[in-house]
Amino acid sequence: MSKKNETASIDPSRRRFLLTTGAGASAALAITVLPNFARADDLPHLSPTDPTAMALGYVEDTAQADDKKYPNHKPTQDCANCNFWQGGSSEYGACQLFPGKAVHTKGWCSAHAEKKA
Ligand code: SF4
Repeated sequence: MSKKNETASIDPSRRRFLLTTGAGASAALAITVLPNFARADDLPHLSPTDPTAMALGYVEDTAQADDKKYPNHKPTQDCANCNFWQGGSSEYGACQLFPGKAVHTKGWCSAHAEKKA
């Protein structure tokens, strides 16, 4: 039997079942994936005293960055305009460098990389 004939011979109720289960699987995937984004704002806040945060000079306010230690720091740099920021317009959001923690939108660390337009 050719493929064309197989498709044409699918019972309409079976076709409906396949479409329904496909949509159900897509919805289940969305429910599984979306909360990961929705929870980004609920992550524990990264403490500036966290060893990794300290190693990168993380501060919750870019104005508090140690300019002597980090002479390349610019006051206009903050997490919100960093390429590693994943928090959207939230006050706190995920950063690719600190998995499982949320950083402040006005924060800064020495790994800051200007977001590409
Ligand atoms: Fe903020 Fe970027 Fe440093 Fe992450 S890597 S803490 S987003 S400045």
